[in-house]
Amino acid sequence: MVFLEKLFKKHEDYTEQITKARQWILEADAIAVYIGSGLSAAGGLDDKKSRLVKEYFRDYYRMGYRSLKELQEMYAHMTEQNAKAYWGYWARYIKEIAYQFELSNGYKDLLRLMRNREYFICTTNIDGQVQKAGFEANRIWSLKGDCRFLKCSQACCPKAYESKELLDGIIKSMGGNLEVQANKIPRCPHCGMYLIPDVEMDCLVESIGDSQGQLEAYKRFIEKHKNEKIVLLELGIESRDLIQMASRDDRVWGETSCVQLVKMNNSKDDLKGESYNESANKLKDEMISIKMDLEEAMSQLASGIISM
Ligand SMILES: [Zn+2]
Repeated sequence: MVFLEKLFKKHEDYTEQITKARQWILEADAIAVYIGSGLSAAGGLDDKKSRLVKEYFRDYYRMGYRSLKELQEMYAHMTEQNAKAYWGYWARYIKEIAYQFELSNGYKDLLRLMRNREYFICTTNIDGQVQKAGFEANRIWSLKGDCRFLKCSQACCPKAYESKELLDGIIKSMGGNLEVQANKIPRCPHCGMYLIPDVEMDCLVESIGDSQGQLEAYKRFIEKHKNEKIVLLELGIESRDLIQMASRDDRVWGETSCVQLVKMNNSKDDLKGESYNESANKLKDEMISIKMDLEEAMSQLASGIISM
């Protein structure tokens, strides 16, 4: 019986909900998009599964690591002791995942949906997919930062440096090992201390910086549109994303006269349909929940939208 229920659920038809969601998006004055780990996972970048470690980080796989999440927790912070191993992991992650991993279809469809629309994207993902998709940089707030950029480990100044040119030299210095040579670790041009990727893996709200003014841009977006017709589009938000997205200013949306919420997820870990936005949870009539493969859902949502 349970099996049959599951089978039925798997094939549940969301055509009606997706059509309605598309209509909302087309009629909205502005769309606030919240992207969590589920959208990347649907495109093959699942940091909880072993496939990526097996394929891109084989030596760690042999050591027993089974997810990128585990590795990122291990290298969440650089210390004097782990600096060489820390950079050994991150240099490869930045190159292979953030720069080289192919852009997945869910993001392509989202770009098509947002073209010529008023939108803003908040994401907890650090895998570079949002940036690769070609959304305007001043319409993205990456809560956990952007690992393609480097910052001073001592925070001597807020400047961020692109890492692309440095990566090959760093990786080459490893000579097949897991550690970078100390003299190849990039250094801050101002104070001479090590540079580190511009990411905040803990991502406690208090620790989130705004070196590139993204949070300020998000606040301006809310301010500009708060009395208009808004669609909140949540894509693949899991509970861990939600904790990190419980931002200081989100609730302001709940005060607007017209907020519609579209939740798309295929994870068991989605807080039983609760939105990260407490006020939006009260808008039951104006909420659509779509629980199916996200790439398929995005493809259906964007169908009929002509990309210019
Ligand atoms: Zn510095």
